Amino acid sequence: MNYRTAFQQALDTPETFWAEQARDLAWFQPPSRILDHLDDGTHRWFADGTLNTCYLALDHQIEQGRGDQPALIYDSPVTDTRAVFTFHELLARVEELAGALSRLGVAKGDGVVIYLPMVPEAAIAMLACARLGAVHSVVFGGFAAHELAIRVDDAKPKVVLTASCGIEVDRVIDYTPLVDGALKRANHKVDHVLLLQREQKPADLDTLGFLDWQSTVAGSEPAPPVAVAATDPLYIMYTSGTTGKPKGIVRDNGGHAVAMRYVCREALGLKAGDVWWASSDVGWVVGHSLIVYGPLLSGCTTVLYEGKPVKTPDAGAFWRVVEDYGVNALFAAPTAFRAIRKEDPDGKLFARYDTASLKCIFVAGEKLDTPTYTWLNQLTGRPVFDNWWQTETGWPVTAPCTGMGETEVRMGSTNRAVPGYQVVVLSPEGEPLPANTEGDIALRLPLPPGCAQTLWNDHERYLSAYLQTHPGYYHSGDGGYLDEDGFVYIMGRTDDVINVSGHRLSTGIMEEHIATHPAVAESAVVGMHDEVCGEVPVGLFVIKDGAFDDTDDPAPALEKELVALIREQVGAVARFRRALLVKRLPKTRSGKTLRAALRKMVNGQDFPLPSTIDDPAILDEIATTLVAENLITRPGRPQ
Ligand code: AMP
Repeated sequence: MNYRTAFQQALDTPETFWAEQARDLAWFQPPSRILDHLDDGTHRWFADGTLNTCYLALDHQIEQGRGDQPALIYDSPVTDTRAVFTFHELLARVEELAGALSRLGVAKGDGVVIYLPMVPEAAIAMLACARLGAVHSVVFGGFAAHELAIRVDDAKPKVVLTASCGIEVDRVIDYTPLVDGALKRANHKVDHVLLLQREQKPADLDTLGFLDWQSTVAGSEPAPPVAVAATDPLYIMYTSGTTGKPKGIVRDNGGHAVAMRYVCREALGLKAGDVWWASSDVGWVVGHSLIVYGPLLSGCTTVLYEGKPVKTPDAGAFWRVVEDYGVNALFAAPTAFRAIRKEDPDGKLFARYDTASLKCIFVAGEKLDTPTYTWLNQLTGRPVFDNWWQTETGWPVTAPCTGMGETEVRMGSTNRAVPGYQVVVLSPEGEPLPANTEGDIALRLPLPPGCAQTLWNDHERYLSAYLQTHPGYYHSGDGGYLDEDGFVYIMGRTDDVINVSGHRLSTGIMEEHIATHPAVAESAVVGMHDEVCGEVPVGLFVIKDGAFDDTDDPAPALEKELVALIREQVGAVARFRRALLVKRLPKTRSGKTLRAALRKMVNGQDFPLPSTIDDPAILDEIATTLVAENLITRPGRPQ
């Protein structure tokens, strides 16, 4: 089917279109009900179908003769380790862990939190949960104890799966104080913690009261796959919203499996037996969809890489992995290529490797800037395909449908909607806008299979965050426009969410933490452009009257304390490095902080003077501080 036909069919007759795609899966009980419309505007796909996602990813692949094909390749330059697991071997490990979890009391519907570095056990843990019908929630290893505790309290896991440490370029991160600290802070009490010992920093299990992974799991009775309803949750993935409380995105089993098969084949162009590498982390949605579930459900070999684009050991690392494993397609965030470009602008390291197997490169997670695109495309001679999606959707909303022969690239565009999605641009009043006019990017309902239809324990918040802004549409929180041919151009978030190296973070949560400092009266955190990370947060804060005497300048010490505070509370992932003391923050007359104006100022972009501003002189004061603190030489000014 060509793109036009598929797009039109999915639009006109979504039930017929997706029923056809669903036939591609080995269901236990194929669905007869394809799409249910609920009164609250949400939808359910394949409600009476039953399946098991782990069975589809492993057992079913073996049944089709792929047992001896590599399923997962582990490449870890930080520990100098490589390992290959065939589908047979991966299944054996998953069945064994599932058996152990079952013995520990984990059953269908129970929560399991996974806090692991990029080791094979992370993928094994996810699949083992899926096998039991348990709901996993992977928390990114860069998150601090406080963030982990919030997720434990929300997901209420029976078991936490973790490791003794994570390994970064230049240091070993002891996970035990993070996990122990989080579990002590959390109100919810977990039954067991299973810890994977790593030789770089073994943990003292007796003191912690955690179970040893190896000895607990070894020899466990292999667990069979449990049939779950298509609408049962496969996982919860926490992502940043505009408030301090993360949103627990819920992914179903049936819609997800159908969507994974569809997008891997039609957009990413994957075929069974291909070697696919998504250089991300299992702690993010890309890690779920494109390291673990998508490629395995498609019968591909997936690469799990515990390293960085640079410094492990150098900027040739990506190309080395491509050569070593014959990678056919690579997926990464633009920040990875910006880092490589910075260290190897002329591609000297690229030239050292044989990358003949590589057919194309996919990038997503943040805006792909033209210089990075051009550099990567020219260096590699491969097409570079930008695609846009969110934790909520779980799979690309816009992408070139390479499996249908669609390979056009338009500079600055994340391509057209994948069949099943209807992307529209709306005015603040909800009116559809004409081509080339910027507005809110929204998706007309129903969302296709696989997209989140609720938030864990908070359906009301799902409705208010996504469905109430523009009735009849899903509100993406991104701004942008469409051209006359339906190519989508994403300009960035319209809310207080920033994107640091492709990681989505709430500025609100950083402000909440800053507010806990005894000297701080209030603050505003905004995203500032950064050459490598795309965006980094910058804090502006006001101190309480009388917090210090007039003689000393408290700013430098406070900046250090606030930087340490965010590192401690949110984690290194936030890259919070600057906090500037200002006298006042710009406010509307109703008292709202004008963050949009501050964002423009720190990014050197002029802006219309907000009509609601209470005292425009504050903007001059702030501009003076930004220059004096060497943040920017020419701050954006009101015009
Ligand atoms: P996350 O939920 O962490 O995957 O972050 C999703 C957000 O990342 C989106 O709402 C966008 O703001 C941004 N994003 C993802 N992919 C792209 C892309 N290809 N171009 C521009 N922004 C993107």
